[in-house]
Amino acid sequence: MGKQLFDLTHQNALITGSTQGIGLAIAKGLGHAGAKLLINGRNERNVHEVVTALQAEGLAAAGYPFDVTDEQQVRKAVADIESSIGAIHILVNNAGIIKRVPTEDLEEPDWNAVIQTNLTAPFLLSKHVGKFMINRKQGKIINICSLMSELGRDTVSAYAAAKGGLKMLTRNLATEWAPYNIQVNGIGPGYIATPINTAYRVPSNPLNRYIVSRTPAGRWGTPEDLVGAAIFLASAASDFVNGQLIYVDGGLVTSF
Ligand code: NDP
Repeated sequence: MGKQLFDLTHQNALITGSTQGIGLAIAKGLGHAGAKLLINGRNERNVHEVVTALQAEGLAAAGYPFDVTDEQQVRKAVADIESSIGAIHILVNNAGIIKRVPTEDLEEPDWNAVIQTNLTAPFLLSKHVGKFMINRKQGKIINICSLMSELGRDTVSAYAAAKGGLKMLTRNLATEWAPYNIQVNGIGPGYIATPINTAYRVPSNPLNRYIVSRTPAGRWGTPEDLVGAAIFLASAASDFVNGQLIYVDGGLVTSF
C-alpha cells in the first residue's frame, strides 16, 4: 500500500496568525484532513475562543498566543509545543500585516513593522521549528506569500519587499533543507476577502472595482479557496515538490 496522499492524521500543524481570515480557514482545512492544530495570534482571548470553537467542531486544537516577531517568544513557544504536544510536522507562516502608504510618506517604524511581521517572522519560525525538523529528517513549511511577491503596486512597497523576500526565503530554505527531507513551499493568494481588507471591499470603492475587474475569475477569493493548496503542500502528496509558489488568485498573476 502506498502513501496516503492528503491524509494529515497524526500530524501537528502550527499555523501563525490563525485566529481569523486565511490562517483560520487553512487551520480548519488541515484539521478536517486529520491534523492537530496549534492556533496562534497575539490576542490571548481570541486564540482561546478560536480553539474552543474548533474543538466544538470536533477538531483537535490547542492555543499558543505569542508575537511572531519576537524571537524569545518564538523560541519558547516552539520548545513548549515540542515538549508538551510533540513534533511540529507542519509549519504555516501566515501571520502578516499590510500598510498602504505612498513610499514618499512611509515612516521607518511602519516599514520595519511590515518587514518584521511578513519576512523576519517566517525566518524566526523556520529557524526554531527547522532545528527540530532537521533532527527528525521530516517537515513541511508553507509560507503565505502574495501577488506582491511578483508584482509591484503603488502604496505597498514595504509589503512587496517583504513578500518578494519571502518568496526567496522559500526557495533558499527549500534548497538548504531538502537534504533533510524538509519541503518548503509557498502559497500566493490573490485578492482574498478577509478582515485585512474589509475597509475597501465595498462596491463604491475604486480599489474594490479594480480588483474585481483585474481578476480573470471576476471575483474576490475566499479564505476557503486556499485550503486545497495548503493540504497538498502539507501532505505526502507534495513530497517531491520543493521551493515552489502556488498562486491561488483566479488567474490574476499570469494575466496581462
Ligand atoms: P488578517 O488580518 O485577517 O489576519 C492576520 C492574522 O495574523 C490574525 O490572526 C492576527 O492576529 C495575526 N497576527 C498579526 N500580526 C501578528 C504577530 N506579530 N504575531 C502573531 N500573530 C499575528 O489577514 P489575512 O487573513 O488577510 O492574511 C493572512 C496572510 O495572507 C498574511 O500573510 C497576508 O499578507 C497574506 N495575504 C492576504 C491576502 C488577502 O487578500 N487577504 C492576499 C495575499 C496575501 P492578532 O492581530 O490578534 O495578532
